[in-house]
Amino acid sequence: MRLRALVLLALAPLAARAQSALPRTHTPQPTTAAITPADLKTRLYIIADDSMMGRQAGAEGNLLVTAYIAAEAKKMGLTPAGDSGTYFQWIPLVRRTYVAETVLLADATALSTPAYWLPLGARGSPRPVDGARVIFGGNAGDSSTWISADQADGRVVVLAPAREGVTPLASPFVRAGSRFSGAAAVALADLDHYTPARLRAATRPSMALRGGASPGSITPQGLVVTRMAAAIMLHRSLDSVHAGDTGAVMHGTITIHETPLPARNVVAVLPGSDPRLRGEYVAMGAHSDHIGIRDGAVDHDSLRAYNTAVWELRGRTPGTPSPTAAQLAAIHVNVDSLHRAHPARMDSINNGADDDGSGTVGLLEIAQAAAARKPHPKRSLLFVWHTGEELGLLGSRWFTEHPTVPRDSIVAQLNMDMIGRGDAADIKGGGPRYLELVGSFRLSKELGATAERVNKSLPQPFVFDYTFDAAGHPENIYCRSDHAMYARYGIPVVFFTTGLHQDYHQVTDEPQYIDYMHMAAVARYVYDLGVVIADQAKAPVVDHPKPDPMAPCKQ
Ligand SMILES: [Zn+2]
Repeated sequence: MRLRALVLLALAPLAARAQSALPRTHTPQPTTAAITPADLKTRLYIIADDSMMGRQAGAEGNLLVTAYIAAEAKKMGLTPAGDSGTYFQWIPLVRRTYVAETVLLADATALSTPAYWLPLGARGSPRPVDGARVIFGGNAGDSSTWISADQADGRVVVLAPAREGVTPLASPFVRAGSRFSGAAAVALADLDHYTPARLRAATRPSMALRGGASPGSITPQGLVVTRMAAAIMLHRSLDSVHAGDTGAVMHGTITIHETPLPARNVVAVLPGSDPRLRGEYVAMGAHSDHIGIRDGAVDHDSLRAYNTAVWELRGRTPGTPSPTAAQLAAIHVNVDSLHRAHPARMDSINNGADDDGSGTVGLLEIAQAAAARKPHPKRSLLFVWHTGEELGLLGSRWFTEHPTVPRDSIVAQLNMDMIGRGDAADIKGGGPRYLELVGSFRLSKELGATAERVNKSLPQPFVFDYTFDAAGHPENIYCRSDHAMYARYGIPVVFFTTGLHQDYHQVTDEPQYIDYMHMAAVARYVYDLGVVIADQAKAPVVDHPKPDPMAPCKQ
C-alpha cells in the first residue's frame, strides 16, 4: 500500500470509528449454553488471535483452530462424524510447483520456459496440452471479440493482451464459468509486459486438491506467453490474426510437482430425537480457514484509513467498479495525525475475525445451544467447519464429494460466512437488523419461505437484503462460499452474511471491529431456522431440477 501526501480527508469518521473500536485483547470467559455476544466474543478473540497465524489451510494455524473446534465439539457431547470415528475429515490438499525448465513443441518448434512462456499456478487440476490445436480467442480485454465456448473446447486458446498495464492475470480466463473453461489451455500473450512482481505472483506455488482427486476441479492450463511465442503457435503475428484462426498442434507435458499439506474439515453430528427422522440431516456450515500471513507488514491504522476512504468512494456498495487511478490518487491519509493517536502498529497476520471467524464461532454457539436443548431437534444436525474455502471451496468440495453421511439424507444446508459486521459504516443499507440472504429460493421455494416466516416471528425481525442473490450480480456471491458445493448436488441452501466491508481480506479484519450483538442475533436466527427445519414433518420440497454437480456455478 502506497501512502500519499499529508492532507486531511476522511479523518473525522475515522476518528469516530477508532474510538468505537473494542480493546485489542480480551480475557476468555466460560461460555454458556445460550448464544450470547459474550460467548461469541470469547471464542472469536481466541481464533482471530495472532497465535492462529491467519488460519491458512495447509498450515499450522488451521490445524490449531480445527483442534480448538474439535475440542469444543467434544465438550458439547457432539458425535464425531469425520474419518475413522474422529471429528476430522482430512482433505488431499497439495502445494503445486511447476518443473522450472520445460519445453513444449508448437508443431516442431521448441518453446522453452521462461524465455517463451510460463505456466500459471492453478487451483484446479489443469488439462494436458499434448495434442491440442492452437486457436486465437480474441482480445483479453474485450469479450465481444472472443470465440464461443464450443470453439474453445479442447483447444489451446491464445488471447491478445488488453491495453498495456490493464490485462488481468490469465487466471480469470481458466476459472469455472469463463468462456474458455473447456479449453485445454488459455495462453495470454502478455509475458513481454510482466514486471518482476507480476512474474513472482504468477509463478507462486498454488494450493489445490491432489491432481485428479476431484473430478469437478478440472481446469484449462493457464499460460502466459510472449508475442513471439504466440506468433509461432498461431502461424501468424498477433497483428494479422482473427478470432477463430487456428495454428499449430502443441506437444509436450507440463509437469507439476505436488507436495501434500495437512488440512482437515471438522465434522460433528447432534443426533436427532425422532427415531423416524434422525437419519435425515440439517447441515450447518462455516469455514475455519483464512488467508494466512501476507508478504511484508503494513501499518494497521494507515491501511485502514486508506481502505476506508476507498470503500467510501465506492459508496460502500459491493459490485461497484473500483475507483479510477485519479480518484485513488486523490486519497490522502494523514499518517502523522494517525500516529499521534497510536504509534505505527505493523501487522502481517490476516486474522479473519469476520471472514470467517464470525461464522466459525457462530456455528460453535449454535451447536452448543442445540446440544443443550432437551429434547434434541427431531432430525439430526450436521455441523461442518470447512477448510480450504479461501483456496477455492476445497474443503466443501471434498466433503460433498465424500460425504460422511449419505448425501441424499441432507435436507438443507445453512452456511454462514462473514456475519459479524453489516453496520451503516460497513455497507450501504446496513444497520443492526441487516442481513443478506443468498440462494434461499433457488432450489426450494419452501425453504426460502421458511427462512422468511421464521424471521417474521422474531420480536425484532431482520431486514433481508436479497441484492446479492440476483442472477449475474457482479460480486458473484452465490458461487463464492461453501453452500455452492451443496447446492450443485440439489441440496437446498441458504447463505447468510452481513456483507463485504473495507477490512475484507486485510490485516485489519480484527475482532475489535466486530458487532457482537448483531452477530449473536444472526446466529440465534440461524439456530431457530435450523431447528424449525429439523422439526418439520417433511423435508423442504425441492421444486427445481437438480443441477449438474460438475457444471460451473452460475451467479
Ligand atoms: Zn469467507
